[in-house]
Amino acid sequence: MVFIRDTEQSLKAAVYLVNTLPGFDDDDTLQTIADFESYLAVNPYTGAIRRDETELAAVRAIRPRLRALWDVDREGAVPLVNEMVRDGRALPRLVIHDDYDWHIHATSDDAPLATRILVEAAMAFVDVIRQQELARLQVCGADDCDDVLVDLSKNRSRRYCSTGCSNRVNVAAFRARRT
Ligand SMILES: [Zn+2]
Ligand SMILES: [Zn+2]
Repeated sequence: MVFIRDTEQSLKAAVYLVNTLPGFDDDDTLQTIADFESYLAVNPYTGAIRRDETELAAVRAIRPRLRALWDVDREGAVPLVNEMVRDGRALPRLVIHDDYDWHIHATSDDAPLATRILVEAAMAFVDVIRQQELARLQVCGADDCDDVLVDLSKNRSRRYCSTGCSNRVNVAAFRARRT
């Protein structure tokens, strides 16, 4: 593992949210409560979840702040992360629950979900910055895709957001070689 488990989970949640933003080739894919449920199924949270329109709107609203982290270098990421920690009034503490080992919760369990997601992402980015791994934040290498990814491979070999994109690029390259 490149980062500890909580950090990798929070980074994956951030990637998921960022990639729901309308992009090059797709519409906003976090618009309905059903979309929201899909996100929560992949990214479970402890603490209160309302699953209503207000909460969905708040979660949608943090996406541009997360996306901005893919556009900056290490020095540029620091103030963004510090603002996220400050806005979420983060107060880290060690907790243990379910099948997790000791880990950090930086917000109270009854803080709004959007705040918890934002602060969890910020705490994950604290690790990324401290470990000097910001280069692992990438935008998909396919010309027709602007989704983001975090390369968690040991040898930093990941270039595409999904197997769909890597297959498409490989097929196109194969066809180009044949003609
Ligand atoms: Zn926890
Ligand atoms: Zn892609």
